[in-house]
Amino acid sequence: MLIDGSLGTVRSGADPVESARMVKESQERAAKIAQWTGPARTKDDHRVQLLANVQDANAARIASETQAEGIGLYRTEMSFLSATEEPSVEEQAALYGKVFAAFPESKVVVRTLDAGSDKPIAYANMSEEENPALGVRGLRIARDNEALLTRQLDAIAQAAQGRGDQAPTWVMAPMVSTAREAEWFASLCKERGLTPGAMIEVPAAALMADKIMPHLDFVSIGTNDLTQYTMAADRLSSQLAYLTDPWQPAVLRLIQHTCVVGRDTNTAVGVCGEAAADPLLACVLTGLGVNSLSAASTAVAGVGAQLAEVTLEQCQSAADAALASEGASEARDAVPAVLAV
Ligand code: PEP
Ligand code: MG
Repeated sequence: MLIDGSLGTVRSGADPVESARMVKESQERAAKIAQWTGPARTKDDHRVQLLANVQDANAARIASETQAEGIGLYRTEMSFLSATEEPSVEEQAALYGKVFAAFPESKVVVRTLDAGSDKPIAYANMSEEENPALGVRGLRIARDNEALLTRQLDAIAQAAQGRGDQAPTWVMAPMVSTAREAEWFASLCKERGLTPGAMIEVPAAALMADKIMPHLDFVSIGTNDLTQYTMAADRLSSQLAYLTDPWQPAVLRLIQHTCVVGRDTNTAVGVCGEAAADPLLACVLTGLGVNSLSAASTAVAGVGAQLAEVTLEQCQSAADAALASEGASEARDAVPAVLAV
Protein backbone atom coordinates (compact mmCIF):
# COMPACT_ATOMS: atom_id res chain seq x y z
CA MET A 1 0.00 0.00 0.00
CA LEU A 2 1.48 3.35 -1.08
CA ILE A 3 0.30 6.42 0.78
CA ASP A 4 1.41 9.85 -0.43
CA GLY A 5 0.52 12.27 2.34
CA SER A 6 1.43 15.34 0.29
CA LEU A 7 -0.77 14.40 -2.66
CA GLY A 8 -3.44 12.72 -0.52
CA THR A 9 -3.34 9.53 -2.58
CA VAL A 10 -3.55 5.86 -1.55
CA ARG A 11 -2.59 3.04 -3.94
CA SER A 12 -3.04 -0.59 -3.12
CA GLY A 13 -1.38 -3.50 -4.89
CA ALA A 14 1.67 -1.46 -5.86
CA ASP A 15 4.66 -3.22 -7.37
CA PRO A 16 7.21 -3.90 -4.56
CA VAL A 17 10.21 -2.78 -6.66
CA GLU A 18 8.49 0.46 -7.65
CA SER A 19 7.36 0.97 -4.05
CA ALA A 20 10.89 0.58 -2.73
CA ARG A 21 12.12 3.15 -5.27
CA MET A 22 9.43 5.64 -4.33
CA VAL A 23 10.03 5.24 -0.60
CA LYS A 24 13.76 5.79 -1.17
CA GLU A 25 13.05 8.92 -3.22
CA SER A 26 10.74 10.19 -0.52
CA GLN A 27 13.43 9.65 2.13
CA GLU A 28 16.01 11.46 0.00
CA ARG A 29 13.60 14.36 -0.46
CA ALA A 30 12.96 14.52 3.29
CA ALA A 31 16.73 14.61 3.94
CA LYS A 32 17.18 17.46 1.45
CA ILE A 33 14.36 19.42 3.09
CA ALA A 34 15.88 18.89 6.55
CA GLN A 35 19.24 20.18 5.31
CA TRP A 36 17.93 23.18 3.37
CA THR A 37 18.93 26.59 4.62
CA GLY A 38 17.56 29.91 3.42
CA PRO A 39 17.21 32.53 2.18
CA ALA A 40 15.23 31.01 -0.66
CA ARG A 41 16.60 31.26 -4.17
CA THR A 42 16.35 29.26 -7.36
CA LYS A 43 19.30 27.26 -8.67
CA ASP A 44 20.27 30.27 -10.83
CA ASP A 45 20.08 32.69 -7.89
CA HIS A 46 16.68 34.30 -8.40
CA ARG A 47 15.59 35.44 -4.93
CA VAL A 48 12.12 34.70 -3.61
CA GLN A 49 11.29 35.93 -0.14
CA LEU A 50 9.97 33.00 1.90
CA LEU A 51 7.81 34.00 4.86
CA ALA A 52 5.56 32.32 7.42
CA ASN A 53 1.83 32.49 8.13
CA VAL A 54 1.05 32.87 11.85
CA GLN A 55 -1.94 33.56 14.03
CA ASP A 56 -0.43 34.31 17.45
CA ALA A 57 2.78 34.76 19.42
CA ASN A 58 3.32 31.03 19.87
CA ALA A 59 3.04 30.38 16.14
CA ALA A 60 5.37 33.33 15.51
CA ARG A 61 7.95 31.84 17.87
CA ILE A 62 7.72 28.49 16.04
CA ALA A 63 8.07 30.33 12.71
CA SER A 64 11.18 32.11 13.98
CA GLU A 65 12.82 28.70 14.42
CA THR A 66 12.36 27.91 10.72
CA GLN A 67 14.17 29.42 7.75
CA ALA A 68 11.32 31.91 7.19
CA GLU A 69 12.63 35.44 6.61
CA GLY A 70 9.72 37.03 8.40
CA ILE A 71 5.95 36.88 8.67
CA GLY A 72 3.97 37.20 5.44
CA LEU A 73 0.52 36.85 6.97
CA TYR A 74 -0.40 37.52 10.58
CA ARG A 75 -4.08 36.57 10.84
CA THR A 76 -5.05 38.93 13.68
CA GLU A 77 -8.69 37.82 13.80
CA MET A 78 -7.73 34.36 15.04
CA SER A 79 -7.06 35.75 18.54
CA PHE A 80 -10.54 37.19 18.82
CA LEU A 81 -12.76 34.32 17.63
CA SER A 82 -14.16 33.74 21.11
CA ALA A 83 -14.04 37.35 22.32
CA THR A 84 -17.41 38.90 23.08
CA GLU A 85 -16.05 42.43 23.40
CA GLU A 86 -13.51 44.30 21.35
CA PRO A 87 -10.12 44.36 23.11
CA SER A 88 -8.85 47.86 23.92
CA VAL A 89 -6.12 49.48 21.81
CA GLU A 90 -3.62 48.77 24.62
CA GLU A 91 -4.65 45.12 24.86
CA GLN A 92 -4.38 44.71 21.12
CA ALA A 93 -1.01 46.48 21.00
CA ALA A 94 0.34 44.13 23.68
CA LEU A 95 -0.85 41.11 21.70
CA TYR A 96 0.62 42.33 18.40
CA GLY A 97 3.86 43.32 20.12
CA LYS A 98 4.41 39.73 21.25
CA VAL A 99 4.12 38.52 17.65
CA PHE A 100 6.48 41.25 16.41
CA ALA A 101 8.98 40.29 19.12
CA ALA A 102 9.51 36.90 17.46
CA PHE A 103 10.89 38.72 14.38
CA PRO A 104 12.66 41.79 15.79
CA GLU A 105 14.77 42.26 12.66
CA SER A 106 12.51 41.08 9.87
CA LYS A 107 9.43 42.05 7.92
CA VAL A 108 6.03 41.39 9.44
CA VAL A 109 2.84 41.68 7.36
CA VAL A 110 -0.17 42.20 9.60
CA ARG A 111 -3.63 41.61 8.23
CA THR A 112 -6.41 43.67 9.73
CA LEU A 113 -9.45 41.87 11.08
CA ASP A 114 -10.76 39.36 8.54
CA ALA A 115 -13.93 38.75 10.52
CA GLY A 116 -16.91 37.04 8.98
CA SER A 117 -17.82 33.97 6.92
CA ASP A 118 -15.70 31.05 8.21
CA LYS A 119 -14.21 33.33 10.95
CA PRO A 120 -17.15 35.11 12.64
CA ILE A 121 -16.33 37.48 15.50
CA ALA A 122 -19.12 38.36 17.90
CA TYR A 123 -18.23 42.02 18.37
CA ALA A 124 -17.55 42.73 14.71
CA ASN A 125 -20.00 40.82 12.55
CA MET A 126 -23.70 41.07 11.91
CA SER A 127 -25.57 38.31 13.70
CA GLU A 128 -27.05 36.69 10.62
CA GLU A 129 -26.52 36.88 6.89
CA GLU A 130 -27.93 34.78 4.05
CA ASN A 131 -24.53 34.31 2.36
CA PRO A 132 -21.77 35.15 4.83
CA ALA A 133 -18.92 34.38 2.38
CA LEU A 134 -20.39 37.04 0.09
CA GLY A 135 -21.43 39.28 2.94
CA VAL A 136 -20.09 41.95 5.23
CA ARG A 137 -16.70 40.38 5.96
CA GLY A 138 -13.09 41.58 6.08
CA LEU A 139 -12.59 45.24 5.24
CA ARG A 140 -16.31 45.60 4.45
CA ILE A 141 -17.11 45.60 8.20
CA ALA A 142 -15.30 48.90 8.54
CA ARG A 143 -17.54 50.75 6.07
CA ASP A 144 -20.14 51.20 8.78
CA ASN A 145 -17.68 50.99 11.64
CA GLU A 146 -14.49 52.80 10.65
CA ALA A 147 -13.49 53.25 14.30
CA LEU A 148 -13.16 49.48 14.70
CA LEU A 149 -10.51 49.54 11.96
CA THR A 150 -8.75 52.72 13.10
CA ARG A 151 -8.48 51.41 16.66
CA GLN A 152 -6.80 48.29 15.28
CA LEU A 153 -4.47 50.39 13.11
CA ASP A 154 -3.62 52.53 16.17
CA ALA A 155 -2.78 49.36 18.09
CA ILE A 156 -0.61 48.03 15.24
CA ALA A 157 1.20 51.39 14.98
CA GLN A 158 1.74 51.41 18.75
CA ALA A 159 3.11 47.86 18.75
CA ALA A 160 5.36 48.61 15.77
CA GLN A 161 6.95 51.65 17.41
CA GLY A 162 10.68 51.24 17.71
CA ARG A 163 10.97 48.57 15.05
CA GLY A 164 13.90 49.62 12.88
CA ASP A 165 14.30 49.83 9.11
CA GLN A 166 15.35 46.18 9.09
CA ALA A 167 11.96 45.24 10.52
CA PRO A 168 9.30 46.87 8.38
CA THR A 169 5.69 46.51 9.50
CA TRP A 170 3.35 46.21 6.56
CA VAL A 171 -0.42 46.22 7.00
CA MET A 172 -2.93 44.76 4.59
CA ALA A 173 -6.68 44.70 4.34
CA PRO A 174 -8.62 41.52 3.57
CA MET A 175 -11.39 41.34 0.95
CA VAL A 176 -10.55 44.52 -0.93
CA SER A 177 -12.78 44.64 -4.03
CA THR A 178 -12.46 48.17 -5.43
CA ALA A 179 -9.90 50.92 -5.95
CA ARG A 180 -11.91 53.19 -3.63
CA GLU A 181 -11.60 50.67 -0.79
CA ALA A 182 -7.85 50.41 -1.40
CA GLU A 183 -7.47 54.20 -1.42
CA TRP A 184 -9.48 54.60 1.79
CA PHE A 185 -7.56 51.86 3.61
CA ALA A 186 -4.22 53.26 2.42
CA SER A 187 -5.06 56.75 3.67
CA LEU A 188 -5.91 55.40 7.15
CA CYS A 189 -2.61 53.48 7.23
CA LYS A 190 -0.53 56.40 6.00
CA GLU A 191 -2.03 58.71 8.66
CA ARG A 192 -0.43 56.34 11.17
CA GLY A 193 2.88 55.90 9.37
CA LEU A 194 2.03 52.33 8.34
CA THR A 195 2.86 50.77 4.95
CA PRO A 196 -0.45 49.89 3.24
CA GLY A 197 -1.29 46.84 1.17
CA ALA A 198 -4.24 44.70 0.21
CA MET A 199 -5.05 41.09 -0.19
CA ILE A 200 -5.99 40.11 -3.69
CA GLU A 201 -8.59 37.47 -2.97
CA VAL A 202 -11.65 38.80 -4.76
CA PRO A 203 -11.50 38.26 -8.55
CA ALA A 204 -12.55 41.89 -9.08
CA ALA A 205 -9.42 43.03 -7.24
CA ALA A 206 -7.20 40.95 -9.54
CA LEU A 207 -8.97 42.23 -12.64
CA MET A 208 -8.78 45.84 -11.42
CA ALA A 209 -5.18 45.55 -10.19
CA ASP A 210 -4.06 48.47 -12.40
CA LYS A 211 -6.48 50.78 -10.57
CA ILE A 212 -5.93 49.31 -7.11
CA MET A 213 -2.14 49.02 -6.96
CA PRO A 214 -1.29 52.71 -7.43
CA HIS A 215 -2.82 53.34 -4.00
CA LEU A 216 -0.71 50.67 -2.29
CA ASP A 217 2.86 49.63 -1.56
CA PHE A 218 2.21 45.90 -1.92
CA VAL A 219 -0.40 43.22 -2.48
CA SER A 220 -0.64 39.66 -1.24
CA ILE A 221 -2.71 37.12 -3.13
CA GLY A 222 -5.00 35.06 -0.91
CA THR A 223 -5.36 31.99 -3.08
CA ASN A 224 -7.81 30.29 -0.69
CA ASP A 225 -10.51 32.89 -1.16
CA LEU A 226 -9.43 33.84 -4.68
CA THR A 227 -10.05 30.22 -5.67
CA GLN A 228 -13.35 30.06 -3.78
CA TYR A 229 -14.68 33.18 -5.50
CA THR A 230 -13.24 32.47 -8.96
CA MET A 231 -14.67 28.96 -9.04
CA ALA A 232 -17.91 29.91 -7.20
CA ALA A 233 -17.24 26.99 -4.86
CA ASP A 234 -17.38 27.04 -1.06
CA ARG A 235 -13.86 26.49 0.31
CA LEU A 236 -15.33 24.53 3.23
CA SER A 237 -17.10 21.98 1.01
CA SER A 238 -15.18 18.72 0.66
CA GLN A 239 -17.45 17.73 -2.25
CA LEU A 240 -16.20 20.74 -4.19
CA ALA A 241 -12.50 20.19 -3.49
CA TYR A 242 -11.94 19.50 -7.19
CA LEU A 243 -13.00 23.10 -7.85
CA THR A 244 -11.41 24.78 -4.82
CA ASP A 245 -7.99 23.83 -6.09
CA PRO A 246 -5.43 26.63 -6.59
CA TRP A 247 -4.03 24.72 -9.57
CA GLN A 248 -7.16 25.77 -11.46
CA PRO A 249 -5.85 27.62 -14.55
CA ALA A 250 -8.58 30.25 -14.09
CA VAL A 251 -7.03 31.17 -10.74
CA LEU A 252 -3.50 31.09 -12.20
CA ARG A 253 -4.60 33.47 -14.96
CA LEU A 254 -5.78 35.99 -12.36
CA ILE A 255 -2.47 35.61 -10.53
CA GLN A 256 -0.60 36.11 -13.80
CA HIS A 257 -2.54 39.30 -14.49
CA THR A 258 -1.83 40.56 -10.96
CA CYS A 259 1.90 39.90 -11.39
CA VAL A 260 2.03 41.71 -14.75
CA VAL A 261 0.39 44.79 -13.19
CA GLY A 262 2.67 44.46 -10.15
CA ARG A 263 5.69 44.62 -12.45
CA ASP A 264 4.27 47.56 -14.42
CA THR A 265 3.47 49.57 -11.30
CA ASN A 266 6.50 48.46 -9.28
CA THR A 267 4.28 46.96 -6.60
CA ALA A 268 5.46 43.93 -4.62
CA VAL A 269 3.25 40.89 -5.20
CA GLY A 270 3.21 38.05 -2.69
CA VAL A 271 1.10 34.93 -2.21
CA CYS A 272 -0.06 34.00 1.27
CA GLY A 273 -2.74 31.38 0.58
CA GLU A 274 -2.24 27.63 0.78
CA ALA A 275 -0.92 27.60 -2.80
CA ALA A 276 2.37 28.96 -1.46
CA ALA A 277 2.81 25.83 0.67
CA ASP A 278 2.77 23.46 -2.33
CA PRO A 279 6.41 23.13 -3.52
CA LEU A 280 5.55 22.59 -7.20
CA LEU A 281 2.90 25.29 -7.26
CA ALA A 282 5.40 27.60 -5.53
CA CYS A 283 7.64 27.13 -8.60
CA VAL A 284 4.72 28.01 -10.88
CA LEU A 285 3.97 31.12 -8.80
CA THR A 286 7.64 32.13 -9.00
CA GLY A 287 7.49 31.69 -12.76
CA LEU A 288 4.40 33.89 -12.88
CA GLY A 289 6.41 36.66 -11.20
CA VAL A 290 5.43 36.47 -7.54
CA ASN A 291 8.11 38.09 -5.32
CA SER A 292 7.32 36.44 -1.98
CA LEU A 293 5.63 33.30 -0.71
CA SER A 294 4.14 32.96 2.73
CA ALA A 295 3.20 29.52 4.01
CA ALA A 296 2.61 27.56 7.20
CA SER A 297 5.85 27.10 9.15
CA THR A 298 5.82 23.37 8.46
CA ALA A 299 5.85 24.01 4.69
CA VAL A 300 8.65 26.60 4.55
CA ALA A 301 11.64 24.24 4.17
CA GLY A 302 9.87 22.04 1.60
CA VAL A 303 9.18 25.05 -0.61
CA GLY A 304 12.69 26.45 -0.18
CA ALA A 305 14.32 23.10 -0.98
CA GLN A 306 12.21 22.71 -4.13
CA LEU A 307 13.00 26.21 -5.40
CA ALA A 308 16.71 25.50 -4.94
CA GLU A 309 16.48 22.68 -7.49
CA VAL A 310 15.00 24.63 -10.40
CA THR A 311 15.92 27.64 -12.49
CA LEU A 312 13.77 30.71 -13.01
CA GLU A 313 13.42 29.72 -16.66
CA GLN A 314 12.08 26.30 -15.64
CA CYS A 315 9.63 28.04 -13.29
CA GLN A 316 8.50 30.26 -16.18
CA SER A 317 8.03 27.23 -18.44
CA ALA A 318 6.11 25.49 -15.65
CA ALA A 319 3.89 28.56 -15.34
CA ASP A 320 3.27 28.53 -19.11
CA ALA A 321 2.39 24.83 -19.00
CA ALA A 322 -0.01 25.28 -16.07
CA LEU A 323 -1.67 28.32 -17.68
CA ALA A 324 -2.16 26.41 -20.93
CA SER A 325 -3.79 23.42 -19.21
CA GLU A 326 -7.48 22.60 -19.43
CA GLY A 327 -7.98 22.08 -15.74
CA ALA A 328 -6.37 21.72 -12.32
CA SER A 329 -5.37 18.07 -12.59
CA GLU A 330 -3.92 18.58 -16.08
CA ALA A 331 -1.89 21.54 -14.76
CA ARG A 332 -0.65 19.51 -11.79
CA ASP A 333 0.33 16.64 -14.13
CA ALA A 334 2.09 18.88 -16.66
CA VAL A 335 4.44 20.67 -14.29
CA PRO A 336 6.80 17.95 -12.91
CA ALA A 337 8.16 17.07 -16.37
CA VAL A 338 8.81 20.75 -17.17
CA LEU A 339 10.63 21.21 -13.86
CA ALA A 340 12.44 17.89 -14.36
CA VAL A 341 11.50 16.72 -10.86
C1 PEP B 1 -6.67 33.39 1.61
O1 PEP B 1 -7.86 33.62 1.44
O2 PEP B 1 -5.97 32.80 0.77
C2 PEP B 1 -6.00 33.78 2.86
C3 PEP B 1 -4.70 33.72 2.97
O3 PEP B 1 -6.75 34.19 3.88
P1 PEP B 1 -7.69 33.24 4.77
O4 PEP B 1 -7.35 31.82 4.41
O5 PEP B 1 -7.38 33.57 6.17
O6 PEP B 1 -9.06 33.64 4.34
MG1 MG C 1 -8.94 35.01 2.66
